[in-house]
Amino acid sequence: MARETLQQRQARAKAILRRLRKAYPDAKCELDWGTPLELAVATILSAQCTDKRVNLTTPALFRKYRSARDWAAAPQETLEREFHSTGFFRNKAKNVRALMARLDAEFGGELPGDFDTLVSLPGIGRKTANLLVATVFGKPGLVVDTHFIRLSNRLGFVKNETDAAKIERTMQKIIPEADWTDWSHAMVFHGRRCCFARRPECAACPVRTWCPASGTGGVPPK
Ligand code: SF4
Repeated sequence: MARETLQQRQARAKAILRRLRKAYPDAKCELDWGTPLELAVATILSAQCTDKRVNLTTPALFRKYRSARDWAAAPQETLEREFHSTGFFRNKAKNVRALMARLDAEFGGELPGDFDTLVSLPGIGRKTANLLVATVFGKPGLVVDTHFIRLSNRLGFVKNETDAAKIERTMQKIIPEADWTDWSHAMVFHGRRCCFARRPECAACPVRTWCPASGTGGVPPK
């Protein structure tokens, strides 16, 4: 693909988002949650796990643990057992307990609404903080998960890049801030429904016209 100017990249991204909004009008966070604390827990549990599995696990947990103090008071072994089916249960239990203890001690048991505070909390990385500000607080957030990383490479916005923070910085320049959240949801929906990791369905892809990896099996040309 010929080298693009930033303006050309922005125009191509705009066309891709327009098309993906049409293809996935209901694109949103697919984790089930009712309160900000619940989404924080669900997001921590979703690391290396499917949203479907998390959504099967959380209803019983959300009935049992209502407040940050409830979560923080849960014994480590109990949470490990309850998180077991989502994988990496020891770390997840440790992170949820530490997060909830901080929220209870310093934030009145509530989730703070700004990115910098969120990202300073235990168990909350940039991806989770962006998801929380975007989904709970309605602020723009680029949620760079595995689908976002794969699609950013295939769509030619980055080259052989796997560092989420670098991809986030690159895409912040290409996507207007007002579209960050929609772009993030569109990447996940498209990655789950068409641009699969192993066999992307390029022939049926609504954005193939704007994708340098179209017809290459998802491997961007050198
Ligand atoms: S054309 Fe293929 S590689 Fe490109 S976004 Fe669509 S499915 Fe993915």
